[in-house]
Amino acid sequence: MNFKEILDALSPSGTQLVAVSKTKPNDQIMGLYRQGQRAFGENRVQELTDKHEALPKDIQWHFIGHLQTNKVKYIAPFVHLIHSIDRAKILKEVDKRAEQSGRTVSCLLQFHIAEEESKFGFDLEEARAMLSSEAFRQMQHVHIAGVMGMATFTDDQEKVRREFRQLRAIFEALKKEYFPEEPSFKEISMGMSGDYPIAIAEGSTMVRIGSLLFGSRG
Ligand SMILES: *Cc1c(COP(=O)(O)O)cnc(C)c1O
Repeated sequence: MNFKEILDALSPSGTQLVAVSKTKPNDQIMGLYRQGQRAFGENRVQELTDKHEALPKDIQWHFIGHLQTNKVKYIAPFVHLIHSIDRAKILKEVDKRAEQSGRTVSCLLQFHIAEEESKFGFDLEEARAMLSSEAFRQMQHVHIAGVMGMATFTDDQEKVRREFRQLRAIFEALKKEYFPEEPSFKEISMGMSGDYPIAIAEGSTMVRIGSLLFGSRG
C-alpha cells in the first residue's frame, strides 16, 4: 500500500499520519518528505537526534518509544510530540528539560491496553493519581495533548477493537475529569500498519504507520 492510498484512507476522519521511520535511512524519509509528509516518528533517542540534525528543519519529530530519564535532554530542544509518557517521573524530567530549552513540550500519556505483560504504560488510576498531584500542577513546560496506546498483536480483530475502545473511553474520562476546558486535549494516538482501519473506526486522531509505508524492518 502506498502513501497516497493511506492518506486517502485517513482523510474522511481527518486522522493524522505519523510516518514511523525507525531504522529507515534518510533518503527514504526524504522520499515521503518530497511528497509533502512532515510528521515522522522514531523510537530511539540517538537515531532521532541524528536524523533531526541531518534532515530539513520543518520536519515534526514524534517520539514513540520507551524514554529513559537520562536521554530526555537530547530531544527536549526540538521534539514535536512525545507519545510515550508512561510514568510520572518521565513527565517531570520532560518539564525540567523543556524549561531549560525555553519550550513547552506536548506529550501524550501512554496507556497499557494490550494483554502483553511487557508493554509500558499507565492504567487509569495511575494517570488520575498523577494528574491530581501537586507535582503535576507545578509543571509549566509540558502540555498533555491526549493519549496513546498499542493493541495486542493478534489476528483477533474484535479483541483489537475492544482495546481501542478502551483507550477511547480512557480519553473521554480524562477529558471530562481533568481537561474539560481545554480543546487542545484532543489526540488519541492509536493504530499501526496492521490495525489502523480498526483504530480509525474507533476514533483515532493519529495513526503511527511504519512498515506499510517503508516496507518491513526485517
Ligand atoms: C514501530 C512502531 C509503530 C509502527 O509499526 P508498523 O507496524 O511498522 O506500522 C507504531 N508505534 C510504535 C510505538 C512503534 O514502536
